[in-house]
Amino acid sequence: MSIADNIHRINAELAGTAARLCVVTKTHPVELLEEAYAAGARCFGENRPQEMAAKQPQLPADVEWHLIGQLQTNKVKLLAPFVHTIQSIDSLKLLKEIDKHAAANNRVINGLLQFHIAQEETKSGLSLPEAEEILASEDYRQLRSVRLTGVMGVATFTDNEARLRQEFQQLRGYFEHLKTAYFATEPGFCDISMGMSGDYRLAVAEGSTLVRVGSAIFGSRG
Ligand SMILES: *Cc1c(COP(=O)(O)O)cnc(C)c1O
Repeated sequence: MSIADNIHRINAELAGTAARLCVVTKTHPVELLEEAYAAGARCFGENRPQEMAAKQPQLPADVEWHLIGQLQTNKVKLLAPFVHTIQSIDSLKLLKEIDKHAAANNRVINGLLQFHIAQEETKSGLSLPEAEEILASEDYRQLRSVRLTGVMGVATFTDNEARLRQEFQQLRGYFEHLKTAYFATEPGFCDISMGMSGDYRLAVAEGSTLVRVGSAIFGSRG
């Protein structure tokens, strides 16, 4: 199956659900991103700031660039002129840095709060109390150029369906709670980014609005 076939097949699966596709393009050369673009993909996810900044000028301007990997504060400046959404927000410090550089570029940058939902200790992300501490803080309330649009999580790498469902339900529960408690008047807080090549169907069944799919489109990264 070609890249275009894979994108068309996944988009057909997502049609009629609440979810849309973010094509994870990390490690792949620009020619393959162009193929994905020609097949209609407009949301591209990269996990390394430098790699994303190098590719961005080579693709059309209507690509929505999403950062899905950990972001150090000293790399925010590199992305601020163009990034659409930073899916990996895990601290108030990072939110403040994004706000500062977005303002300097006269832009508003979207952000998702990344939660730790996996069994593995290594996967990063906030706990619910940590997120609530950020949202309740006066510092957060001052921010004008970063806009939180939802939550993101990476599930355990497993084929245990019950486990995966439970983790996706947990993230969805966090989303519902935060929406009610902090974003009740903000319709823009609407995204639950969950699901990857191996588990996106389950994630969609559990309420994902944004799936991040790489290897099911491009093949394994080797
Ligand atoms: C690499 C990556 C993906 C895509 O993984 P695939 O299994 O190739 O679909 C999704 N989300 C994050 C955070 C990633 O780092």
